[in-house]
Amino acid sequence: MAVPYADCCAIFYRITMLPRVDRAPLRGVIERRRASQAYSLNPGDFLPLNSGRVTGTGLILIDMLSSTTRQTTDAGFLRRFHLRSLEHQRPLSAITMAFAVVAYLSFVATRSVVGGPMPGLQYRLACGLCLALLAMAMPRAKTPWACGAIGVAYVLTLQAGIALNVSGVASPLLWALPAMVMVVMGAAPLWLTPTQFLFGTVAFYAAGLPVLLNVHETRGAHLVCWMWIGISVLSAAVLHGCFYWLRRNHFLLEDRLVQLAATDPLTGLQNRRAFKEGAETLLSTPDGSAKFSAIFVDIDYFKSLNDRFGHSVGDQMLHEVAQILKAQTSADDNVSRIGGEEFALLRRGGLRSAVGFAETLRVAISGIARPDGALTASFGVAEYRAGESFMSLLDRADEALLRAKHSGRNRVCAERAAADDAARLKPLQLPDSDAHASGASRREPLRQPWDDHYLTSHFQPLYSLSHQKQVGFEALLRGERDDGSVIAPAILFAPKPFTSESDLDRVSHALHLANAARVIPDDVWVFLNILPVSFVAEGYADQLAGFARSVGLSPERVVLELLESHGGSVDDLSRAAAQYREHGFLIAVDDFGAGHSNLDRLFQIRPDLVKLDGELIRATSPGAQQPILPKLVSLLHQAGMLVVVEGVETTDELILAVESNVDFAQGYLLGRPAATITPPEPVNRRIDHAFDVLAEGRAHQHARFELELHPYRLALDLAAQAYSGGVPLEEAFAPLATFELCISCFILDESGRQIGLEVNGMASAKAGDSLQPVANPRDARWDHRPYFRNAVLRPGVPVTSSPYLSLASGRPCIAVTIAVPTEQGRCVVGVELDWSLDRLPWPAAD
Ligand code: GH3
Ligand code: MG
Ligand code: MG
Repeated sequence: MAVPYADCCAIFYRITMLPRVDRAPLRGVIERRRASQAYSLNPGDFLPLNSGRVTGTGLILIDMLSSTTRQTTDAGFLRRFHLRSLEHQRPLSAITMAFAVVAYLSFVATRSVVGGPMPGLQYRLACGLCLALLAMAMPRAKTPWACGAIGVAYVLTLQAGIALNVSGVASPLLWALPAMVMVVMGAAPLWLTPTQFLFGTVAFYAAGLPVLLNVHETRGAHLVCWMWIGISVLSAAVLHGCFYWLRRNHFLLEDRLVQLAATDPLTGLQNRRAFKEGAETLLSTPDGSAKFSAIFVDIDYFKSLNDRFGHSVGDQMLHEVAQILKAQTSADDNVSRIGGEEFALLRRGGLRSAVGFAETLRVAISGIARPDGALTASFGVAEYRAGESFMSLLDRADEALLRAKHSGRNRVCAERAAADDAARLKPLQLPDSDAHASGASRREPLRQPWDDHYLTSHFQPLYSLSHQKQVGFEALLRGERDDGSVIAPAILFAPKPFTSESDLDRVSHALHLANAARVIPDDVWVFLNILPVSFVAEGYADQLAGFARSVGLSPERVVLELLESHGGSVDDLSRAAAQYREHGFLIAVDDFGAGHSNLDRLFQIRPDLVKLDGELIRATSPGAQQPILPKLVSLLHQAGMLVVVEGVETTDELILAVESNVDFAQGYLLGRPAATITPPEPVNRRIDHAFDVLAEGRAHQHARFELELHPYRLALDLAAQAYSGGVPLEEAFAPLATFELCISCFILDESGRQIGLEVNGMASAKAGDSLQPVANPRDARWDHRPYFRNAVLRPGVPVTSSPYLSLASGRPCIAVTIAVPTEQGRCVVGVELDWSLDRLPWPAAD
């Protein structure tokens, strides 16, 4: 049956993307497509505009309203339509029929008082009873067919009753005709379909034809008969048609509203509410054996896409992701855009099949190009547990999604329960005799089966620089196959859907502790990396301590290296740290200086050791004028923390580590990670050599520094003598001001306050204006500066400061000062020297 309301609708979508758009080409495209394939416009179709008059590129979205159209054409629509008509019409039909029963009984009563032969009352009443039964059956009719059958039976019974009642009367036409006309008109609401209407009306008149044909006595009776029949059929047809038309429009509007209320306008997918309702209905089905899984999808770095390329590009990406979800899912799957750039799916099947499906979706989505690369999305998957609410299922999928995000995005993670199961399936199998292993067997490292390979421990030494000996070994996880080939760390540590990071972490702890007990010496520490998520896990401190003792390692020998850059609440971490300390473990913070390092976090956790990221030492290696490492080390020492520097790869870096006063060092130069322990001798020599180089360098540096400063000391001494002898300030400083490095000469009184104006020197011209607000030093106090205090402590001797940042020039400088007596009392005469030139030697130490 043709559906007359199959118009397609178009929405001009982000029309602002097009600099100048003529609507005619679009209209042409739509018209052509309508003419050729009336329903081929898919929801969310993008039609490219290929017109010479359209400048720029753009896309126009044909709205999903066309999907309403498509839905109305499907075979099920008519059936649904008639069923809903039946629901609406049943009460009205029952009332009309009941009314007709009453009218019929009045007819019977009236006929009884009219004379003439008549059929027995019982036959006529039997007809009334049948009519009443049919009226009662109507509210119970469940299908349009049953309703039609009741209707036909009803009109035929009425026809029989009319025939019985009019037999024997003087003018039957007067009796029969009005009744027949009224029945046809009154029965209009009985018919659900035009077929039923046609069939019922024809059957009614066919049954009444003998009665009508027997009417002879009135002239022209036949004509009147047919006229009334014509009027009644026409009125009934119009009445029925109106019923049908009104109802259809009402239902269509209702359908449309329901669909709009359930659809996300941008993607054409279900919206959150419809998804939730649909999912709850699906999950409440009594089939206990059916499995369902939810998949939560969140596009990665979507905000940056919007920010960099505009929301229209973001919208287009959302649309493309939705198209992929639609294409990959079947009609049984519930798919929704539940908000922003988040999508959710509910599908039949267990966790493993859902994870596999999510992986397919992930690959498909990563095929979408975004202007700066490829679009990716992260997935969280959870399986429905009987009795739980849909929202708690979604929460677990969301939690898994969060882990997928935290572990690098563009990946699928399954809910944690499954991960726990996986961990339980693979407990660490240590030989019973392990704790007592000794002698040769003590040197045999253990391997732990994991996935399709083995996990092993490698150990990298840490050296105390002052003691020049190994003080500990960091345990590092390695993977190897049966044939001995090594598994790349990227594969070993790649997050797997069914294995949480924490599983691998905990298994590695047990393995490392067992191996450390076997291979590393008894008098050194074992450094164990630990993820914050494992670190704060309830009861893990007790478990780890118990395990360490069970393999013969006391917790005092274990240093837990907390990964600095892996998040975690600082409060939780510091609470957990206290528990580990109670057992005797030492705590270290790893990778300080990289990622999210922050001093506040450090001071709250208060670790025993801080491991400085290797980049920190490289950032201060040759080229940098003033290393910041010594200052950082000194700060950490003052806070009571020992300092380890990682990633020492070259002799220069080792020298810098020694110079910076770090306590322990680790790196390829000192020893690579290995399954067996390497002897420390060659490394000890290297460290010793670094100390020698530094000592030599210090002496050389000191000599150069002194040489460079010598003329300034002499000149300052002369200037000071002249000033204390009464020579005016400018005159006294005039020779010193001509020296190349001289920024300014100044005089401070006994309390460190500047007296008079300073005398600018040769280097002052280089100073920019950026520090203008602090450029005028008149009345400024400098008694807190070491150059003032040191000069006062050694009157008459020129003293030199360490390099500091000059407030006058904004550049590194050095002050030479001397305390001299004057008529106004003792004062400090000084000169500030520009120490920013590369060639200048820095003092060897503070
Ligand atoms: P992550 O990888 O952690 O998921 O980062 P993200 O940037 O994808 O996530 P975030 O939640 O920070 O940003 C989501 C962004 O999605 C914020 C908002 O601007 C954007 N967004 C939400 N709804 C729409 C939409 O209908 N259209 C467009 N273009 N952007 C939307
Ligand atoms: Mg989001
Ligand atoms: Mg996102």
